[in-house]
Amino acid sequence: MNTDSKGMKLTAREKSALIMEGIVTVILLLLLDLSVIVLLNEMIQTNPGLQDGIFIIKRSVFIGPQHYQLWSWENIFIVLMLLFDAGVVYWRLIRRYHQMQLRHIIGELHYIANGHFDHRIPFTIKGDTQRVITSVNALVDSVIASMDEERKIEKSKDELITNVSHDLRTPLTSIIGYLGLVEDRQYHSEDELLKYTGTAFNKAKQMKSLVDDLFTYTKMRADTPLSLATLDVGQMLEQLAASFELEASEKGMAIDIDVPDKPIRIEADGEKLGRVFNNLITNALKYGEGGKHINLRAKQPDDKEVVVSVENDGKKIPEASLSQVFERFYRVEGSRSKATGGTGLGLAIAQSIVKRHGGYIYVTSTDDWTRFVIHLPIKNGIQLKDEHEK
Ligand code: ATP
Ligand code: MG
Repeated sequence: MNTDSKGMKLTAREKSALIMEGIVTVILLLLLDLSVIVLLNEMIQTNPGLQDGIFIIKRSVFIGPQHYQLWSWENIFIVLMLLFDAGVVYWRLIRRYHQMQLRHIIGELHYIANGHFDHRIPFTIKGDTQRVITSVNALVDSVIASMDEERKIEKSKDELITNVSHDLRTPLTSIIGYLGLVEDRQYHSEDELLKYTGTAFNKAKQMKSLVDDLFTYTKMRADTPLSLATLDVGQMLEQLAASFELEASEKGMAIDIDVPDKPIRIEADGEKLGRVFNNLITNALKYGEGGKHINLRAKQPDDKEVVVSVENDGKKIPEASLSQVFERFYRVEGSRSKATGGTGLGLAIAQSIVKRHGGYIYVTSTDDWTRFVIHLPIKNGIQLKDEHEK
């Protein structure tokens, strides 16, 4: 916004004030000079001792024709006085000018503070004061940025609360409904009673999983420290595959692992990364409709990062949903069916965890494969550049 760097312009009033100040100062100084000269003359005339002294000094200092010496002595004194006067005039005018500059800056500040936040101090000034202007403009920029950020956070908090209350109310309504039937003894057999309480119990568990997810999500967002350790990614994937084997075979799916022979060691929070892969594999099992394969791959393209991917065949994620699956509570149309359960927080949590590690996660989906890819830095504290950010 501060593109046109014009100098500061004085108003007509300020200009005339400056001129007046100059004139008044000059008059005062001339009066002062005159009185000094008169006074000195007076002193020299009335004091013969002083006259002699001056004469001796003149004689001892100057060599050359007498009249030249005399001429030079008085004139030098006057020239010095005029130089002094010019200095004083210059100093006073500059001081006044600086005051005016400050007044302009303060005026601009008031203008910005009155709510014109897209305004910046439009002029540049030579010297140190320019630093003040640059700082003020930078300050306004950063205040605006943080206000925007604040607004965004506020908005997303509102959304979160709306979503949570909606997702909690649905199971809660049926819990109250079923327990109400039990309370009013509106059942005819023990089986029916058990059916009611069983349904209420399941709904309560659903609520708990939402609350748990939410808790993890907010905790991940806050700056809780990662508990770092060196871990072998290949080994981790193998353990995960083993723990999901039964579930996969029940669904007629096979989990395959593709990792290099050499161990890939990274510095990371194993428990949290475990959560990420758990969710990705669970998702692959839940949503890979008609799929037969889940592949867990890890590779190390350079000494900075590792790339881990979880892919499954089966139904693809529609193009329009790809950018949204990482949003909290987002579930692709059709996934909302209660058969798969889920709160839509899994991928949001995964993304938070990966980001906390300095990495990034993205998804691609074709008719053949849906692939979640995670880039993680080998060493903690390094921030990888997200090449998939739109
Ligand atoms: P949660 O993980 O919180 O229990 P969830 O699995 O529905 O619930 P996410 O893991 O965030 O939530 O996934 C969001 C949505 O992305 C899912 O509801 C699903 O529609 C879609 N999705 C995720 N993984 C896949 C996949 N491998 N294949 C197809 N769709 C997927
Ligand atoms: Mg999930």
